[in-house]
Amino acid sequence: MCGIFGIEGHDDAAGFAYLGLYALQHRGQESAGLVSWDGEHMHLERGMGQVAELFRRPVLARLAGRSAIGHARYSTAGSSVRANAQPIVVATAMGPLAVVHNGNLTNDRRIRARLEREGSIFQTTSDTEVILHLMARNPRADVVESLMVALSEVEGAYSLLLLTAQGLIAARDPHGFRPLVLGRLGDAWCCASETCAFDLLRAERVAEVEPGEVVQLRDGELRRYRLPASAPPSRCAFEHVYFSRPDSEIFGDSVAQVRTAMGARLACERPADGDIVVPVPDSGLFPALGYSRASGLPFELALIRNHYVGRTFIEPRQAIRDFGVRVKLNPDRRLIAGRRVVLIDDSIVRGTTSRKIVRMVREAGAREVHLRISSPPTRWPCHYGIDTPSREELIAARQSEDDIRAFTEADSLGYLSLDGMLGCLSGAPESYCTACWRGDYRVPVSPEQSRQRLLFPIVSEERE
Ligand code: AMP
Repeated sequence: MCGIFGIEGHDDAAGFAYLGLYALQHRGQESAGLVSWDGEHMHLERGMGQVAELFRRPVLARLAGRSAIGHARYSTAGSSVRANAQPIVVATAMGPLAVVHNGNLTNDRRIRARLEREGSIFQTTSDTEVILHLMARNPRADVVESLMVALSEVEGAYSLLLLTAQGLIAARDPHGFRPLVLGRLGDAWCCASETCAFDLLRAERVAEVEPGEVVQLRDGELRRYRLPASAPPSRCAFEHVYFSRPDSEIFGDSVAQVRTAMGARLACERPADGDIVVPVPDSGLFPALGYSRASGLPFELALIRNHYVGRTFIEPRQAIRDFGVRVKLNPDRRLIAGRRVVLIDDSIVRGTTSRKIVRMVREAGAREVHLRISSPPTRWPCHYGIDTPSREELIAARQSEDDIRAFTEADSLGYLSLDGMLGCLSGAPESYCTACWRGDYRVPVSPEQSRQRLLFPIVSEERE
């Protein structure tokens, strides 16, 4: 889970990259960074925190040059410390290289162990750095060739942007797990995880960077290459369920329309005897709209979200039951009391949030609470870049639908079927990754991957 953005050939590259990242903030709030290239030097600014806090005007002014790439990070591989913030910049025989990455590699530990045995020194514990090491060890006159060599060794999920002395390079793994789109802004090119970044800049979406494609953008020219390895596409369907912004177009489909269709389908598959349809904001909004339209039950915004909840609010000393969820969501008693509520959320992971919300709605006077989920039960952890807990912590991996209903304290529970969900997407069903629902991992994970966490040699960095 990360957001990446890049721009090539613009007088205010850093300013526009900042705005692009700002629109992708929902993809990661732990750290953010930008690097620019002025034809001679890389300029790097990164840190822990959110885009708007980190990039004040004087900081942006230091990012000189006509091309830039940026990253908003949510750590899935590698710990949440400043040293792991991206972009990562290194010096090589081909000149400086900077990289940003969305996705998780599945064999980086094995490669890293080999490189370390041969003397490589890593600056970070992130999987991304492996790609730079492989490039640095295989320098070529054409930097795209060096990247191709590196990518022929790595496996797993990557949507990448590289800033080099030979232009901006975008690459997507052969399965195309994570999204990456190409846009045009006047004479400049840009690349982003999601199209909502283009909307803010008034850039025009040109095309997806295709699975297995490498695109070089240099002096306004575009060159497209294909990785030698081909694989069936395996686009992450969870981007549509939860992760992407609803105003984005992902894998050629409008996220808002897909979510609304999922809700409508859910209403047909799992009807409920209710009086009102209530979304859990924000991810339940569009499915609830679809559910309401298809069922004819009125849509009520009866849970209001506080949008200013940061990651670190201070808990009161005296414990208040379900405080965490109450800070974020407040039920409107006037809309709920005495009614049978059909509560719509996008997914259940551990089940603990759903239980708190069901309780909260009941305490606000609901006569019944019917929980409806606009995706199938999440049973397997993601190895390709979505932050999911281990299999033991996924409630649907261990419990039946009826047990989950009992745990969440809902009067009834219904999930959308897998076929129903895939039917809401315009691509062929087999072109999407469904590993978190079915465990059908298209790229196996090397045994080294799951062994112990990598630690920084410097304790203060590990603690940061
Ligand atoms: P829980 O079942 O208590 O673990 O929480 C489920 C809620 O977390 C749902 O409302 C989802 O919208 C949200 N959610 C689903 N997947 C993720 C994820 N990978 N990271 C953060 N939140 C998620």
